[in-house]
Amino acid sequence: MPRKAGERYECEQCGAQLVYEKPCPCPPEMPHVEICCGRQMKAVNGGGGRASG
Ligand SMILES: [Zn+2]
Repeated sequence: MPRKAGERYECEQCGAQLVYEKPCPCPPEMPHVEICCGRQMKAVNGGGGRASG
């Protein structure tokens, strides 16, 4: 799935965050990965700070 500008990814291992400043023009069939600490980073939904904890 292509990435949009503003999409945020967080590493659940070390807490590092990655944000796309520009959209990715790759077609949907192209694989996309954000690897940190050897794992796929977790997508963070921007805007809603509603998580408990
Ligand atoms: Zn990490």
